[in-house]
Amino acid sequence: MHPQQTDQKLFSFELFPPKTEEGMEKLKTQVKKLARINPLYVSVTFGAGGSTQQRTFQSVEWLVSEGIEAAPHISCISSSAAEIVEILNRYKDQGIRRLVTLRGDLPSGTGLGGRGELNYANELVALIRREFGDYFHIEVAAYPEFHPQAANARADLNNFKRKVDAGANAAITQYFYNADAYFRFVDSCEKMDIGIPIVPGIMPITNFSSLSRFSDACGAEIPRWIRKRLEAYADDVESIRAFGVDVVSELCRRLLDHGAPGLHFYTMNQSAATLKIWDNLALPE
Ligand code: FAD
Repeated sequence: MHPQQTDQKLFSFELFPPKTEEGMEKLKTQVKKLARINPLYVSVTFGAGGSTQQRTFQSVEWLVSEGIEAAPHISCISSSAAEIVEILNRYKDQGIRRLVTLRGDLPSGTGLGGRGELNYANELVALIRREFGDYFHIEVAAYPEFHPQAANARADLNNFKRKVDAGANAAITQYFYNADAYFRFVDSCEKMDIGIPIVPGIMPITNFSSLSRFSDACGAEIPRWIRKRLEAYADDVESIRAFGVDVVSELCRRLLDHGAPGLHFYTMNQSAATLKIWDNLALPE
């Protein structure tokens, strides 16, 4: 079987931990709406620094209490190996079996300057396998348009392979709007004998200025024709959203038709755009 073909497509979505109680209440409402996608799992991002980590734990705890399969993200750049093992033991006690495993980025202005004992995600994957064997299903990040700090495309692919060789079970990509970048990436991986599912990360388009800022930082390209149209809509939020749903639905359709093993939605804690895209795909129940 083609490595990217699985019997069942894998659909999942991602949340970030809200900063306030009010945000948490809103999140609960959105997750209940998103539940009709029947996701394989719901992941929760993880930041460097104490208070944001507590919010990840709270969000994960709530998902578990709702009977939803939670996949906490865990990053290594600002934590010691002992701190990471402690967090993972706690997740294990909660019955969590899936992790999204990352190097992480240090948020600017946190004062967290130094690096941890583990500097790259492959080292974190290796630590988890060493300490927990095969207990956790490990997802890692992949970059079809390449990571902004990578020396070059070849080096980035080799570094991706290190994570797979260290024991990753599957990958979620950074978002992209160029389907060909994904297909090429998957082809290159196959040539390197990387056989794990590489699930496209899907970012709905709802707001041009924040998407543009974020894309510049994470190295995801907004194709010129999309950027130009979004710019032309200016403050016409309804048109931006309608166009965004159209473009992203088409992207998802193309990815699935050409063998993507599933989709991972970056919901940004909002259900509306993801659900519209989902409905447009009209996937068999
Ligand atoms: P790595 O795989 O370690 O790669 C980072 C860079 O180093 C790449 O340029 C790579 O080519 C290079 N590299 C890798 N290994 C080596 C090596 N051994 N030697 C030399 N160079 C190497 N960030 C958060 O802080 N919290 C989150 O919850 C979070 N969730 C994310 C979820 C997804 C699906 C994705 C795609 C990203 C997420 N991020 C998150 C962002 C992520 O932390 C950043 O993109 C970060 O800069 C890289 O993380 P990584 O795990 O891909 O790192």
